[in-house]
Amino acid sequence: MTSSDCLFCKIVAGEIPHDTVYETDTVLAFWDITPRANVHVLVIPKTHQDTLAQMAGEDAASVAELFTAAGEVARLEGIDESGYRVVSNVGADAGQEVFHVHVHVLGAQQLGPVGP
Ligand code: 5GP
Ligand code: ZN
Repeated sequence: MTSSDCLFCKIVAGEIPHDTVYETDTVLAFWDITPRANVHVLVIPKTHQDTLAQMAGEDAASVAELFTAAGEVARLEGIDESGYRVVSNVGADAGQEVFHVHVHVLGAQQLGPVGP
């Protein structure tokens, strides 16, 4: 996967419309196109990496930035005190559809148990 055929790289480049929640020089957060919770925001690095595992191996500081940004998204969406979930699907068995690192921030409702 290269950035030229990656959906989320196209979002970073402004080639695909998206609803931005939060942005820094290195991170972009935007609403999931098919929200599966009352708040469902994706947080991505602006540079391409396929999976969180790959990113963790090569650039752990950028992984930390994603989670810091997820906390900022929760604050901006007003769910930091009520609670929220941060998850990342890594690879096929997890159902990862877009192979550009992202974490899902889910909340603004009671969430079910984590599981299959
Ligand atoms: P994954 O299954 O890879 O962890 O999650 C990919 C997420 O990207 C899915 O929740 C899906 O709804 C979302 N998504 C797919 N295409 C688009 C898009 O074009 N725009 C936005 N905002 N989200 C997308
Ligand atoms: Zn990408």
